[in-house]
Amino acid sequence: MIHRILHLGEEALRRDSEPITAIDDKLRVLVVDMFETMHKARGVGLAAPQIGINKRLMIIDVDEHPLVFINPEIIRKSGKETCEEGCLSLPGLRENVSRATKVLANAIDLDGKSFEIEAEGLLARAIQHEIDHLDGVLFIDRISKARRIQIKRDLERLEAGETLESPDAEDDPDEAASDNEANTSGQHTGASTPALI
Ligand SMILES: [Zn+2]
Repeated sequence: MIHRILHLGEEALRRDSEPITAIDDKLRVLVVDMFETMHKARGVGLAAPQIGINKRLMIIDVDEHPLVFINPEIIRKSGKETCEEGCLSLPGLRENVSRATKVLANAIDLDGKSFEIEAEGLLARAIQHEIDHLDGVLFIDRISKARRIQIKRDLERLEAGETLESPDAEDDPDEAASDNEANTSGQHTGASTPALI
């Protein structure tokens, strides 16, 4: 089932999410729904609060490696890099956000097993962005106050449920395909069209 993705201004995006205590069929169905919802929106990451469920669950699918993170935590981070970022809950908005270059995270998978993942590039960025969602944090909280004032009008439009028009024509599937093809390094570091997470 495809869920509606919440947008800026909706309360669930700002809540602290609860840890997951049981891995059951209900959770497995939710994960399938989240992948469907994320793929339809052409995102590469989605956190449960973005569909109104305040549980510590998130999915990431970078370079066709679908990952499910239950109760994820960042154990270690290093480096710092600034990249343009987009979010399915702030459609059309792209801003430069500084984050750690590399992260070591742990989480539980759908079999209930704990795992660790070392990541860099887009995956590292997506992990940090999605964990922020579980803490009620959005990427606009990580840009300067001055910049937030500059884009105040855009933020108001997003809160009203509008999608900002973007010069990258993200709704054009051909454009998205060519962007993927251009990605020869195997790591999308967010050149002209940042991945939506
Ligand atoms: Zn997001």
